[in-house]
Amino acid sequence: MLKILNKNKKIIKPKAVLFDTDNTLYEYEPANKKATKAVGDKLNNLLGITEQEFLKKYIQSKNEIKAQLGKTASSHSRLLYFQRLLELLGLKAQLLIALDLEQTFWRTFLDNAPLFNGVRDIFFELKKREIPIGIVTDLTSHIQLRKLTYFGLEDIFDAVVTSEEVGADKPNEKVFKLALKKLNLENEENIWMVGDNPDADIIGGKKINAITFQKLHKGISQGINEQEPDVIFDNFIQLNHYIQKLFKKKDE
Ligand SMILES: [Mg+2]
Repeated sequence: MLKILNKNKKIIKPKAVLFDTDNTLYEYEPANKKATKAVGDKLNNLLGITEQEFLKKYIQSKNEIKAQLGKTASSHSRLLYFQRLLELLGLKAQLLIALDLEQTFWRTFLDNAPLFNGVRDIFFELKKREIPIGIVTDLTSHIQLRKLTYFGLEDIFDAVVTSEEVGADKPNEKVFKLALKKLNLENEENIWMVGDNPDADIIGGKKINAITFQKLHKGISQGINEQEPDVIFDNFIQLNHYIQKLFKKKDE
């Protein structure tokens, strides 16, 4: 399914396409669930912590770190979550265990985060048409760069911006503006923004007047009112067909 919601916007060949990463290029929740479980299992093996106790304290630790840091890249840091989790479990500063849990989390996460069908083809299609591709993503650079290289996409992007680089998560316009600056497309309005999150990606995309595309799948609510995207789609193969049709029109 691909549906144009905003009929007033003329959609033409873009000057660049910006993509979110998490839950846009792959499904976040199954990976997060398996990674969290692997951490729980490890804590159980190492320290005899029950799953119930782990989950209770993990939620508490996440909430504390998020409240402490606000909408910043490090508010998503698993290392900070696990460090605080160990403190909440009464274990004080267990540095090696905190580092080990972080590694366990991301290793398991990446093993369970296959790219959606059609994502690679879209990137190849855009590259073939010489349309620059950017990434705008929340979280720290180390893990986001690790994810993108793990996916085998290290040669795809013309610009990558993480929220760590600008000190604030999306929808802060600094994230989007830095991506355009890196692409030498400052003040360019014919940009597409593709993401899953109505607040972060759609509101953020609108701040640079981009054409906004929301990727929908299980667990995602479609943006409404000021968060309403210009286009919704649930399948990258269809988005790719749409792009190919658009280019054909232009070529004729
Ligand atoms: Mg996302």
